[in-house]
Amino acid sequence: MADESEPKGRPCPFCGASMMHRHCKYVCPQHGVVYDCADTFY
Ligand SMILES: [Zn+2]
Repeated sequence: MADESEPKGRPCPFCGASMMHRHCKYVCPQHGVVYDCADTFY
């Protein structure tokens, strides 16, 4: 579960689905916006 160096398509932390990168948000097809650029994960 240490895949933080993915170049694209981060998996959703909840369901593992590939998330879309929209604007500055990561959107899971099942959970909606999971990460926002305002988050401190960068
Ligand atoms: Zn999800």
